[in-house]
Amino acid sequence: MALNFDIAIIGGGASGLAAAIAAAEELEKNKKRGKIAVLEANVRVGKKLLATGNGRCNLTNTGVALSHYHGDREFLSPVLELYSPQYIMDYFASLGLLCKEQDEGRVYPYNLQASAVLDVLRRQLERFGVTELCDFQVTAVKKIAAGFEVSSKEQKITSRKVILASGGLAYPQLGANESGYQLAKALGHTCTRLFPALVQLKTDPLRAKPLKGARSPAAATLLVEGNPVQTANGEVQFTEYGLSGICIFELSRKYGELHGKKKAELLLDLMPEYTERQIFSVLKHRCDLFRDLPASELLNGCLNKLVGPEVIKTALPNSAKYAGELKPSDLALVANTVKQFRFPVTGTMPWKDAQVTAGGIPLAEVENSMQSKVCRGLYLAGELLNVDGDCGGFNLHWAWSSGITAGRSAARSFL
Ligand SMILES: Cc1cc2nc3c(=O)[nH]c(=O)nc-3n(C[C@H](O)[C@H](O)[C@H](O)COP(=O)(O)OP(=O)(O)OC[C@H]3O[C@@H](n4cnc5c(N)ncnc54)[C@H](O)[C@@H]3O)c2cc1C
Repeated sequence: MALNFDIAIIGGGASGLAAAIAAAEELEKNKKRGKIAVLEANVRVGKKLLATGNGRCNLTNTGVALSHYHGDREFLSPVLELYSPQYIMDYFASLGLLCKEQDEGRVYPYNLQASAVLDVLRRQLERFGVTELCDFQVTAVKKIAAGFEVSSKEQKITSRKVILASGGLAYPQLGANESGYQLAKALGHTCTRLFPALVQLKTDPLRAKPLKGARSPAAATLLVEGNPVQTANGEVQFTEYGLSGICIFELSRKYGELHGKKKAELLLDLMPEYTERQIFSVLKHRCDLFRDLPASELLNGCLNKLVGPEVIKTALPNSAKYAGELKPSDLALVANTVKQFRFPVTGTMPWKDAQVTAGGIPLAEVENSMQSKVCRGLYLAGELLNVDGDCGGFNLHWAWSSGITAGRSAARSFL
């Protein structure tokens, strides 16, 4: 016999867990009873949450603002205004989890363990008697007179309201899959183009390989057809396939928007605090000082020891052997390359390396309450929607905020 619920949440990730707790709290506050279930395809809820922020869970950012979001950001204000970063921190504090702010407004649990975040969420679910049905991969959601019939291959439940919080396509190794989009589409929604964001950018492997493992601070600029479109500062990490690091992640979204249709390059300024002229002077001084220094080591005092020789090789393919043999015009070329070290961009790494999905169900298809405009009784939350944020806690902030909104709204529909 099918189990019956008042609110069934599809997806036990950040937004789904927040939705379940918010719904239960709202019912309790209004002295109502209701049966709530979280249906999760994985054997446990919150698997991705444990991997966030390198296991530390960067759960919000004190600098939350519309400018940190992409997709349908013009629809975000009502939700972001209700749920400020302070609200989210207070919310977790009310669950017994202290948070602390670190660099650039990033907020983490005080003990820097993502598992602490999942623990308090699960304890709160337990306290409210929310049913966790794991290993429940929802394959169909059908509208029926009493609400919805929700099925997996093996089981079926009914629920008066459904919250679809099934996440995006990023990190399929932790359960992300396209079923949520298909369920939404079957219920009348549309979906924009989906592409990986907050992901490494690929370059010519011949350029990448010699630099593999190196890290370098830089101002990285994405050039499209030769024109600068976005710059991000931070540490660039060179990998076997291309370039990584938070600043590259930030640029990857803009690159994804091009859909591979335009020529893109990454331009790295490897010494952003110095002018080209100053770098020239430093190089000239080193050459005068160490005339028998191998030319390939000229930049060792300034740049990472893997990066420096590659810059020299790029600037001076037929370089002299020793620093003392380099002409001022050679040094000018090297200084210029330090400021403009270029890489062709040949693509992004695949979904398994991405932190978030760009694109999704348009926010124009949901109300501010997160209820679907095309299928009444259905609510949507989280990464499934056409919203993605910058690196730094903005995606989880959206997941909590939209999840709480959806959970509260679904519960209020019974009051
Ligand atoms: C490695 C990594 C690190 C990250 N670090 C951060 C960070 O530090 N800060 C930050 O803000 N963001 C971070 N993000 C992004 C953030 O984790 C996501 O944006 C956020 O988890 C999205 O929440 P969600 O609830 O929408 O989806 P998810 O958390 O992905 O949850 C969706 C859940 O639905 C389940 N599901 C899917 N389909 C079905 C189905 N058909 N039936 C039943 N269950 C289903 C999935 O198994 C999953 O558990 C990171 C992402 C990754 C991959």
